[in-house]
Amino acid sequence: MLRKIFDEALVNGKSYDWLEHLSTKIGGRLSGSPQAEQAVQYTKAEMEKLGFDKVWLQPVMVPKWVRGIKEYAYIESTSGNTTVVNICALGGSAPTPEGGLKANVIEVQGIQELEQLGREKIEGKIVFYNRPMDPKLIQTFEAYGGCVDQRYSGAREAAKYGAVGVVVRSMSLKIDDYPHTGTMSYGDLPLEDRIPAAAISTREANLLSSMLKLQPQTKFYFNQTCRAFPDVESHNVIGEIKGSLYPNKVILVGGHLDSWDLGDGAHDDGAGCVQSMEVLRLFQNLNYKPNHTIRVVLFMNEENGLRGARKYAEEADKKNENHIFALESDAGGFTPRGFSFQSSDEDFNKIKSWKPLFEPYLVHLFVKGGSGADVAPLKKEGNVAAGLRPDSQRYFDYHHADSDTFDKVNKRELELGGAAMASLVYLFDKYGTVKYPVK
Ligand SMILES: [Zn+2]
Repeated sequence: MLRKIFDEALVNGKSYDWLEHLSTKIGGRLSGSPQAEQAVQYTKAEMEKLGFDKVWLQPVMVPKWVRGIKEYAYIESTSGNTTVVNICALGGSAPTPEGGLKANVIEVQGIQELEQLGREKIEGKIVFYNRPMDPKLIQTFEAYGGCVDQRYSGAREAAKYGAVGVVVRSMSLKIDDYPHTGTMSYGDLPLEDRIPAAAISTREANLLSSMLKLQPQTKFYFNQTCRAFPDVESHNVIGEIKGSLYPNKVILVGGHLDSWDLGDGAHDDGAGCVQSMEVLRLFQNLNYKPNHTIRVVLFMNEENGLRGARKYAEEADKKNENHIFALESDAGGFTPRGFSFQSSDEDFNKIKSWKPLFEPYLVHLFVKGGSGADVAPLKKEGNVAAGLRPDSQRYFDYHHADSDTFDKVNKRELELGGAAMASLVYLFDKYGTVKYPVK
């Protein structure tokens, strides 16, 4: 059966065509944008064409934040001597004052340094967070995890010491000119205390750092006109094939349909959405009638709110739906290496026994660990959540930047990921956990 799944995916796969449409015809799909709405309608229509048993939209209120006109920034080493640099506002950031903001800069390697420096050295300045991702870590997600606090909480923390703005080194291991956005939070800081936050490209972060060493009085200017609006209604897109033996027990596959507004969100997470749709298409085309209900969910608003995932989990609880397994693809459309499982040791041991079946396809890295942001809320005692783990070396080159575009996705790599997901779902459906024996 696994061989058949891979053959069908590699010969007749549809995921790449869907991704091309999502990426090149629709583009970046930030929550609350017209593109996000188009993506909802497009994927719903495609699922309807496939003739699943049921396709529907689940309403959810999402934040709406708009970038405004293109950001502009420069480094001023001495009066009138400026170098223009590439920045982008962080998602959820406040705008700069009208006409922009110029101030001296204080470079730090992390939030912890703020306390040592104290208000005296920070007040009135732009805090420049420049701790790079650690290149020694083989799993780049760990390197990302080791830095992302600067982006998420950097502005909130710097504001407490009187900073007027923050500039954060982009979360990427690649040295290039792309600034990478991503979500940030002011926590419960009152509106008037919220300072603007931007990401700067890695190359220009290095430049700013060396200029500060030569000339500590170097100033930084930036202008951004981003703005938050009241929440708007959007949707999770859901399709399912009813289970023949256990219609009330659900196996879920999913990704998130929203993306950042930079690039076209091909890897993050257009890839995960089309791979998840492909799982159901594969079963249907192979004429496989699942024992459990197999459901694809394209979650809205993972990037800046996780509202879709929360709404879905809340509704599932209300309806007493029993999710025995939930699998997410949200780590890019690169060559799949395996899966990460959030499960009990007992369940993991059972799952591990399937590992040799994946060896011919080189997708046999089975580890315990996190699953995915959208499926984690469904994790309960006794069920299993998991995440597809593709090769991660290039993911952060493109993540949340203008460079996350369709041309960066390889058709076969994308298809192998969908086939690997379908294979795992098939095994769960047929041989499941010990709790759901099959007649
Ligand atoms: Zn994502």
